[in-house]
Amino acid sequence: MTNLVTEVVETVDANPESPAIAYEGTELSYAEFWERAGQFAQALENRGIGEGDRVGIYLPNLPQFVTAFYGTLRAGGIIVPMNPQYKAREISHMLGDSEAKAVVALADLVPNVLEVRDDTDVEQVVSVGADVDGATEFDDFLAEDTKAVVDRDDDDVAVQPYTSGTTGTPKGVLLTHHNLAFTTRANAVIPPGGFQASDRLIGTLPLFHIYGMSVVMNGAMYSGGTYHPVPKWDATEVMDQLEDDEITVMFAVPAMFNDMINHPEAERYEFESLRFANSGGSSLPLEVLERFEELWGVQLNEGYGLTETSPVTHANTNENRRKGSIGQPLEGVEAKIVDDDFETVPRVEEGPIDEEEADLRDVTGELVIHGPNVMKEYYGLPEANEEAFTHEDGKRWFHTGDIGYWDEDDFFYVVDREKHMIVTGGYNVYPREVEELLFEHPDVADAAVVGVPDERRGETVKAFVVTTPDAEVTPEEIKQYCLENLAEYKHPREVEFVQELPRTTTGKVQKFELRGEDESEQ
Ligand code: ATP
Repeated sequence: MTNLVTEVVETVDANPESPAIAYEGTELSYAEFWERAGQFAQALENRGIGEGDRVGIYLPNLPQFVTAFYGTLRAGGIIVPMNPQYKAREISHMLGDSEAKAVVALADLVPNVLEVRDDTDVEQVVSVGADVDGATEFDDFLAEDTKAVVDRDDDDVAVQPYTSGTTGTPKGVLLTHHNLAFTTRANAVIPPGGFQASDRLIGTLPLFHIYGMSVVMNGAMYSGGTYHPVPKWDATEVMDQLEDDEITVMFAVPAMFNDMINHPEAERYEFESLRFANSGGSSLPLEVLERFEELWGVQLNEGYGLTETSPVTHANTNENRRKGSIGQPLEGVEAKIVDDDFETVPRVEEGPIDEEEADLRDVTGELVIHGPNVMKEYYGLPEANEEAFTHEDGKRWFHTGDIGYWDEDDFFYVVDREKHMIVTGGYNVYPREVEELLFEHPDVADAAVVGVPDERRGETVKAFVVTTPDAEVTPEEIKQYCLENLAEYKHPREVEFVQELPRTTTGKVQKFELRGEDESEQ
């Protein structure tokens, strides 16, 4: 059976000398990487940790993340990836809920693990980057021998990421070997000609998130390419690296592409080796897409996915794309748009439609997904599982919570997240439409739109705007510009200029913060 580990075995056999990971001038070949993963697996076994046991990884993007990830899988274990920005209180829930037995943490983060350890089952703490009290340093932890691969069934869980918690307490998402091996193969064909062993992939997406992990799983470990981990996003450093390391593939989020096009010396850069760029995680403003392509001559394709769908479900490709669309479903994935009664909403002839002119209520509904990529379930949460799925004709449809429409060529369009919709004086406003317009303004570098409480209208539209460095525009002028280009009820009645927008490490605007709410109020 092919699973996430057997796929790597094939890649290692085919390319033992090729670089698997390149970091700060040092390369780890596939043979070396696989040996270290085997030593990590053996080290777990020596401490009684093995099949079905959870191992937390609490690291930024570093080579040790990839070693611990595949070492755990090699031992038959399950990875619980944790955001390195999380504090002790936040990891306490994940470690307790998952009953993790070991944690691999950045040395600076070890105190957070030790602080909550007594309330969890954590027996082993491994530190990366320095020797710290209460933990074993990563290289000292590794065993001398390598452990043979433990067989896993398709349905066995491989990774247990947690949702970010913007929809309540973070939920553990059970992703099986089959889920992830399926998307790995389905994704491998997205770049032109598929991922190649000669590809060099920039690792700017955080590895604790499934989108970042998929870059390693698909582009490197499955295809034999080289992964270049980037621990912290810095536009200048990454743009230099794209040139210096002759990077060929970049998967990132719109916020990163937006930083790149707004870089003061953007025009100085020439990414001659870059052959493929993909955006996902949130909607890609058309302005960003077009400017990126104009500056660097590389097609920027949008894709879509969720943690619960391992993650990618839709993608545009170089040969087959429609701007403004999230693309077509990957082969083997089924998707449709349904209304509140789970009736299929008819397709539009050809998208994207003019949202200003169409009555969105006629063509939109919730995007639902069925396929081998859909998670097994949320861990230990029967009610959440009940809500997340609709069973119909032997199929299990996952509710994404995203509002969209589809066209006759099977391109899908996400209008916005259901929970982001603003209801103002009885009208529905999707913030994304207003945001797209703001991005078109020459003085706007970044923008986010939310609903804020209003006595008369229930909610009213408010825009937060980051202006370009030498802009002289006023909030009143931005308001006027929106009023000239949007139906009156959609225009932001309040416009606030800010230095930057609060974002998650996966580039999503933290809208609850802009609304001045607690995370729990989402
Ligand atoms: P939580 O589910 O806890 O709120 P989250 O939003 O970070 O956390 P993810 O699984 O990381 O969850 O993100 C999935 C969501 O990202 C999708 O439901 C969708 O709203 C958004 N998304 C991803 N790609 C796109 C895209 N191309 N266009 C619009 N939205 C997108």
